[in-house]
Amino acid sequence: MNDRVGADPSADAVRSEVAQWIENNWNPDLPLARWRELLADSGWACPTWPARWCGRSLSGALGRVVAEEMKRTVVPGPPEGVGMMLVAPVLLEHGSDELKQRYIRRTVTGEITWCQLFSEPGAGSDLAGLQSRAVRDGDGWRISGQKVWSTGAATADFGLLLARTDWDVPKHAGITAFVLPMRQKEIVVRPLRQMNGHSSFNEVFLDAAIAEHVIGEPGGGWLVARATLAHERRLAVFPVPPSVPGGRAWREAIAERTAAAEPHKWYPQRAGRPDLVIPQAQALGRSGDPVVRQEIARLIELAWSARWMAERAASIRAAGQRPGPEGSLGKLASSGIARQAARVHSLIAGAAGMLAGPEALIGGTIAEIGVSVPAISIAGGTDEIQRTIIAERILGLPREPDVSAGVPFREVRAG
Ligand SMILES: Cc1cc2nc3c(=O)[nH]c(=O)nc-3n(C[C@H](O)[C@H](O)[C@H](O)COP(=O)(O)OP(=O)(O)OC[C@H]3O[C@@H](n4cnc5c(N)ncnc54)[C@H](O)[C@@H]3O)c2cc1C
Repeated sequence: MNDRVGADPSADAVRSEVAQWIENNWNPDLPLARWRELLADSGWACPTWPARWCGRSLSGALGRVVAEEMKRTVVPGPPEGVGMMLVAPVLLEHGSDELKQRYIRRTVTGEITWCQLFSEPGAGSDLAGLQSRAVRDGDGWRISGQKVWSTGAATADFGLLLARTDWDVPKHAGITAFVLPMRQKEIVVRPLRQMNGHSSFNEVFLDAAIAEHVIGEPGGGWLVARATLAHERRLAVFPVPPSVPGGRAWREAIAERTAAAEPHKWYPQRAGRPDLVIPQAQALGRSGDPVVRQEIARLIELAWSARWMAERAASIRAAGQRPGPEGSLGKLASSGIARQAARVHSLIAGAAGMLAGPEALIGGTIAEIGVSVPAISIAGGTDEIQRTIIAERILGLPREPDVSAGVPFREVRAG
């Protein structure tokens, strides 16, 4: 992704250069879009990306220096979410220059937003078994089929979509990745309601929807899918800073983040809220109970080893390597932590932990943890699938048998 040439500047030089640039350019009364344009064109928006594409080709370590400086000076950064975390990195790795030109800067400035259209009713873990169909139509493509679990699809401008373009080759070889404009009458998006009461996901129905742009090569969509999933396994949601200065740019940034965070606002509960375990044990007088203490110790043990593993993965990325199978270790660890935290919460709270609503424990947060934690073992690839990746790609165990290997997809019993 990086087109760095020559030696890196020192951390101190980068720190003072970005501080000076912010001093010269930051004005809290700017419209947010204008501030983001300045950031994108200076390369400070995404300092580790190539200089041509809103970056400065800096190393991961120097990118963190820039982020620290932006945090210290309390200026808004680029938008968060699927566009910045998944789509733009994948376009940088696999998109043509024309696609980069068309979409990267508009994603960085927040002009356009994205959703991920991978999963289908019969293709989640077995993503390569997807059956949405794309056929050529003049210079573009027509796409028909159904997607599901599509977070944020009701509001996104574009989708990163996988569809099958060739049924006469084995399943992984016949998939193509597309940029799909979401605002067209050939697409119907229906929100779904989850058991925790939120509505983050959608069903997306495609009836000869028009897509003009392929990412990578036709038939090369599996490469794009794998790159996307590797980025997804380290997807994070950042909270709005607790206090920010006034001014138009921050007002608009907070409104944008609040809207963007809407589908994700239960994600802290999905992670089990380990931070609340000790305060709850103390508040409910359970911190002296030997069984509760033992389970809390088990939780802390899991959380610390996951933190060290995450630091190791971060230093691998800082050294310029792409995310790899170590993301599966982190994802699996998050599931284990969330489940253990939910278990300790219910041990501490007892039956009261099942009550929802503002009168319940911490305004119903404990109950919301219980019904949100299962999602972390599913999103971005289930626990079982992570175990398979670890077994095959880290431990070098034999590959899972695949009855569809080498068979044209048309002859495979999919779904
Ligand atoms: C919070 C959340 C957000 C999501 N956001 C999006 C999104 O924005 N876009 C998108 O495209 N998708 C999204 N998804 C979908 C997600 O990627 C799928 O739910 C996931 O890949 C599992 O697929 P599935 O639901 O079809 O389950 P299945 O694949 O049907 O799995 C059912 C069960 O069978 C097990 N299983 C399946 N295959 C194997 C195997 N080979 N070995 C062992 N066990 C197996 C699974 O582990 C699971 O327990 C989201 C999901 C969640 C929970």
